[in-house]
Order: sequence, then structure tokens, then C-alpha cells
Amino acid sequence: GLDDALELRARLADKPSVVVVGGGPLGMEIASGCLASGCAVTLVTQGPPLILQLGPHLAEVFVRAARERGLTIVQTAAARPEGDEGTPRVILAEGGVLEAEVVLTAAGDVPNTEWLAGSGLPAGGPVPVDARGLVRPDVAAVGDLAAFPTVRGVRRVPLWSSAIEQAKTAARALLRGTEAPPLDFQSYFWTEQFGLSLKAVGDLPVEGPPEYVDGEPGGGPALMRWPGADGAAVAAALDYRIPVPRLRRMTKAAA
Ligand SMILES: Cc1cc2nc3c(=O)[nH]c(=O)nc-3n(C[C@H](O)[C@H](O)[C@H](O)COP(=O)(O)OP(=O)(O)OC[C@H]3O[C@@H](n4cnc5c(N)ncnc54)[C@H](O)[C@@H]3O)c2cc1C
Repeated sequence: GLDDALELRARLADKPSVVVVGGGPLGMEIASGCLASGCAVTLVTQGPPLILQLGPHLAEVFVRAARERGLTIVQTAAARPEGDEGTPRVILAEGGVLEAEVVLTAAGDVPNTEWLAGSGLPAGGPVPVDARGLVRPDVAAVGDLAAFPTVRGVRRVPLWSSAIEQAKTAARALLRGTEAPPLDFQSYFWTEQFGLSLKAVGDLPVEGPPEYVDGEPGGGPALMRWPGADGAAVAAALDYRIPVPRLRRMTKAAA
């Protein structure tokens, strides 16, 4: 939360060496911020950064920008932070050891639901809900902890916009039961890192190269579209100013 961000900012004032564990959007954003603060930064990642979240095309654009700004990327099968506050280090599964003055991890999140034990609700993991966010007719679960039916199966979609839409849907369902409409959620993702900004609407990750609605390949400003088999496309704006509703419209038909 904000406390972590403020503490990190204070620690970066002396420009320490930094190792970030985790090549997802948060790890990459943190690495970007540390580099911009003048630190030497190594990112430790399982597979290429961002590939699971964005797919190869967009991941490659960000990785190139990150390397150009001086990020060192180390791939490993698994990394384990070790040591105390004064001497943190990261042990790699392959046997290497990375030392740094600051080690940060952004290696995924786990729903903290143990406190539900004894309540009659599922405890100790994601809380499964129906298409209206209900665990049972009088109880809703929404946000990062809720696993709901999607085109890719019942799963969590831990994004801000997802939490908001789930909450609206569940509130209606608590009041009107099955007369309330089910969740109609279209993912919206954004990130800013290594001098690039990305807004994307639709089901990420995307495979293969995009259609260029505006701009061209190379990592410069571009408006892109990946048509989907089911008629629903993914639309993405890289360093490109566009209102989100227009990006949403692009997922339905060519702009
Ligand atoms: C560093 C970071 C960056 C992110 N960046 C983005 C982004 O760029 N775009 C995006 O879409 N999403 C982003 N996310 C994800 C987004 O923040 C979450 O999807 C969203 O906050 C989920 O909302 P939520 O209400 O489910 O959970 P939270 O925002 O985590 O809120 C849960 C609340 O419940 C409280 N709580 C927990 N347990 C209990 C209890 N037992 N009793 C009472 N209260 C309790 C917590 O204190 C907290 O206030 C980011 C997340 C992180 C951590």
C-alpha cells in the first residue's frame, strides 16, 4: 500500500543497488521507478517479463525499453529471497546468488481469507462466486479474492476495474436476486513503465502481431487491435492518447 511506497521512496534516496523479484506488471513498474531514481536494478524473472500478462508482442516492446534504460534481466526457474534487513540476497534455483542493498518482491498475490474459517464460507483461498458475485443468496464476495465465471473458466481477475464492476453486479444481485443482470465484465488494464504507457481493453495476453489501426511496429506510439476467434478483439494503445470508451468500441469492430 501507500506505506510501502513511501518507505521505498525513502530507501531509494541513497541510490542503493536493487534486485526486484518478479517480472509481472508490478515488478516491472517497481524496477522502472527504481531505475528512474538512479539505482542499478536487476530484475529476476521466471521466463521473459510480462509475457504471461501481455503476450509476446507487447512484452517485447516493454523489455526492449527496459533494457535500453539499463535494466539487467536475469531469468531463473525459481528465486528465493534470503538474509536479513542488512544483507538481503536472492538465491537462484540454478545456484547463483544476487546481492543488493534492497531486495523487493512482486511475485504474485494470494487471497487472505483464512479469517473466514468457521463462517461457513470457503476459507484459505479464492472465494468462488456465481455470475452475480454471490457465494449464496445472502452473501456476496467481490474483488481480488473472488473467483467468478469467465470465458477462461472460473478465476480471479485481480484488477481495479474488475473489483468495481463485480461490486456493482453483486449489490444488484443482493437486492434483486436472479432478476439482476449477471456480470458483464471486459478487462481494462493499464501500466506506465520505462517511459512507455499502455492501455488495453479485452482478454490479455494476446498472441501474434497486431493489426495497426494507427502507428506502426517498432515500439512508437501505436493503436493496435488483435481480432479474437469469438468476434471480441483486444485493443491496445501504446503511448497513444485515446479515451477508454473508444478503445472499448475498437474491441467490437474495426475503428
Ligand atoms: C502495487 C499494486 C499496484 C496495482 N496496480 C494496478 C493497476 O495499475 N491497475 C489495476 O487495475 N489494478 C492494479 N492493482 C490491483 C488493484 O489494486 C486491486 O485489484 C484492487 O485494489 C482490488 O480491490 P479489492 O477491494 O478486492 O481489494 P483491496 O483493494 O486489497 O481492499 C481490500 C480491503 O479489505 C481490507 N481487509 C482485508 N481483510 C480484512 C478483514 N479481515 N476485515 C476487514 N477488512 C479487511 C483491507 O485492509 C483492504 O482495505 C494493483 C495492486 C497493487 C498491490
